[in-house]
Amino acid sequence: MKKISILIPAYNEDEVLEHLYQRLGKLANDNKSYEFEFMFVNDGSRDKTLQVIKEYAETDERVAYVNLSRNFGKEIAMIAGLDYVTGDATVIIDADLQDPPELIPEMIKYWEEGYDDIYAKRNSRKGESWLKKTTSKMYYYILQKSTHITIQRDTGDFRLLDRRCVEALKQLRESQRYTKGMFSWIGFNKKEITYDRDPRHAGQTEWSYGKLVNLAVDGLTSFTTAPLRVSTVMGFIVSLIAFIYIIVIIVRTLLFGIEAAGYPSLMAVILFLGGVQLLSLGIIGEYIGRVFNETKQRPLYFVEEVHARAHKKTR
Ligand code: UDP
Ligand code: MG
Repeated sequence: MKKISILIPAYNEDEVLEHLYQRLGKLANDNKSYEFEFMFVNDGSRDKTLQVIKEYAETDERVAYVNLSRNFGKEIAMIAGLDYVTGDATVIIDADLQDPPELIPEMIKYWEEGYDDIYAKRNSRKGESWLKKTTSKMYYYILQKSTHITIQRDTGDFRLLDRRCVEALKQLRESQRYTKGMFSWIGFNKKEITYDRDPRHAGQTEWSYGKLVNLAVDGLTSFTTAPLRVSTVMGFIVSLIAFIYIIVIIVRTLLFGIEAAGYPSLMAVILFLGGVQLLSLGIIGEYIGRVFNETKQRPLYFVEEVHARAHKKTR
């Protein structure tokens, strides 16, 4: 019998877990031809999330969990889960029920047809603000234009991954992870299905705008060096203009003598150049920061406790 692992990163989700667990239980009952594993990753929750998961694990042998030593963020929680899942296929799903588990049978169907990565694309974004929708749209546009791999738009981490995708992802051990880009980067046979994303079932989203900006910058800097190119080109153009301007000034001084005016234009040039330099430095800094973080070669996470059947771990 083939085994499907459901990977659920959970951070302060005790309000929704019961409902999620019931829906997953129903899913398993409706699909008796597969064995199921529910792999919860407790990402350093400060509420009763861990206790609730432990209660399930006591009575239900399908339930497995990894308890991380602190809150590492969803990206790291996902790789931690992938390190421990044992299924022939793995479905990554949010704990807050924004991704309907009812879609999983359809994913399994396509998996049986030979697809390796069946991802769910959101049709609508109920309960999300206009600002969040537009910024996400713009961001995908920029990311798409500056990388050569296709990054799926309006697609979260809700997807079914074949074992070989999981094994591939486990080999990408960078610490500032942008998993969404990695799904594209590893390749394999992809299949898109669409669904309507529901608002959170309960609780609060843990993603502040600050965190989203961080993720966005990680996404850009881990998949493209285009911003470096932009700063090079900008630097070149500005220097060229400045150079022409200098020649103009010299010629003008030789022909008409020195005039004391020009303070405003001088200020303008200095400020503009200063701005360009700061921007370029910042961009270079982003990449150097990444190099710094990756050279430390730290483990991605620490595990406080694992409750799982035979688990394979690469590193
Ligand atoms: N999550 C996590 N660690 C974090 C933040 C979130 O494991 O530091 C989990 C969270 O429990 C949920 C999923 O990641 O299962 C998505 O989080 P959320 O619903 O807050 O994000 P959004 O749906 O707004 O993208
Ligand atoms: Mg959510």
